Amino acid sequence: MNKRTFIKLFAAMIASPVISPLFAWAQSNKLKNWAGNLEYGTDRLYSANSLEQVRDYVKKQSKLKVLGTRHCFNNIADSTHNILSLKSMDEGGALDPEAHTVTVTAGITYGQLCPYLHTRGFALHNLASLPHISIAGACSTATHGSGEKNGNLATAVSALEIVTAAGEVVKLSRQIDGEAFRGAVVGLGALGVITKITLDVQPTFMMRQYVYENLPLSEMRDHFDAIESIEEGQAFEATSEFFGAKRAIRNLHPIAELSAENCTEQMGVPGPWYERLPHFRMGFTPSAGKELQSEYFVPRRHAVEAILAVERLHDQISPHLMISEIRAIAADNLWLSPCYEQPCVTIHFTWKQDWPAVRKLMPGIEKELAPFNARPHWGKLFTTSPADLKSIYKKIPEFVQLSKKYDPQGKFRNEFLNTNIFSS
Ligand SMILES: Cc1cc2nc3c(=O)[nH]c(=O)nc-3n(C[C@H](O)[C@H](O)[C@H](O)COP(=O)(O)OP(=O)(O)OC[C@H]3O[C@@H](n4cnc5c(N)ncnc54)[C@H](O)[C@@H]3O)c2cc1C
Repeated sequence: MNKRTFIKLFAAMIASPVISPLFAWAQSNKLKNWAGNLEYGTDRLYSANSLEQVRDYVKKQSKLKVLGTRHCFNNIADSTHNILSLKSMDEGGALDPEAHTVTVTAGITYGQLCPYLHTRGFALHNLASLPHISIAGACSTATHGSGEKNGNLATAVSALEIVTAAGEVVKLSRQIDGEAFRGAVVGLGALGVITKITLDVQPTFMMRQYVYENLPLSEMRDHFDAIESIEEGQAFEATSEFFGAKRAIRNLHPIAELSAENCTEQMGVPGPWYERLPHFRMGFTPSAGKELQSEYFVPRRHAVEAILAVERLHDQISPHLMISEIRAIAADNLWLSPCYEQPCVTIHFTWKQDWPAVRKLMPGIEKELAPFNARPHWGKLFTTSPADLKSIYKKIPEFVQLSKKYDPQGKFRNEFLNTNIFSS
């Protein structure tokens, strides 16, 4: 691996009840996603302030999409008709210390929620590489963090409040609704508008983060299990060398050329969980900004073979790559989760923003990963065919049925969903 290998051990805009362009996000009057690689198909954006406003708006529209914090790289959140933002509905949590849960309105980001939890003695089980993303958007696409024993972020969801296509309010909970709940959590925005989410919380904790550089590929091949996980009950001893990788002597950005100022504290300095689990700090630009991302989930047991399969494309991939990440995620039972009933390892690519070149590379990567039934990340770029998606995401037919129950006419469907989920 000649890229540095990172081993992570562990104003809202003024709410307006009228349809308006999204002033804060639009550049040259065009509404774009965070990375700027996608211009949304409409700037008809409505910002809702309350559950009642969401219900009224949904009843009036024949087609719409809810937008979170716009961090997806593909057109999953796009609409050519109407976009609904809940950004103003970002009230902090209603913490239930007895039940170990927190309930939030769906416009809130992890960055807003985490300090609130920590000061009250609680934590979430895991976070993604950045806290800037909305909880509803992240859970809807099965966004994940790192750690063999950590399910993706959606696994912390214990209840949802959803406004359906008819404007009705439906409540689903892990305890009461069984399979319907497990189908709805990673919902790709297809079932309706999530207006409230309840998450499991646990006692707050402190963490240290160490970065090691230049892990030899042969060490990864021969010792992947030992590198990815730590024996139960053992503390990590931050020796200066770890399977041939050298402990960094200063904070580093995953993309070597960029300033580590944007990154969470490293070098073993202890700090609260939410300032160590993500790679990037709230209030600073995460990653590079002008970039593309794609990511594939392979079953944990095939991790080494899959990494070596991608490595065969090294010479084609390298000129276009900024950084790659390999992370482990526990299995879950959420229908459209890439970790549905299988623990996974993800192979992630942060690309230079050259879509024609990346577009050309993807089928080769997907071909190398096909023997492992690699599942693409819902929020990132992929070229996997709808037929292949159906064979690797086994619960798509049940998900289609569940979506039709809450949205019979396809009010919340867009091109992404029609192509990848609802095509026969
Ligand atoms: C720099 C960067 C780093 C990233 N790091 C990670 C990472 O570590 N791990 C990982 O897995 N992913 C990562 N991602 C991907 C990111 O987590 C996902 O794209 C996630 O969906 C972003 O949430 P969002 O609110 O911005 O989603 P959006 O793009 O706004 O929306 C995503 C989907 O959620 C739906 N949605 C949003 N809000 C609602 C709602 N209230 N009700 C119903 N549906 C809703 C939308 O309709 C859409 O279908 C990263 C992305 C970036 C840009």
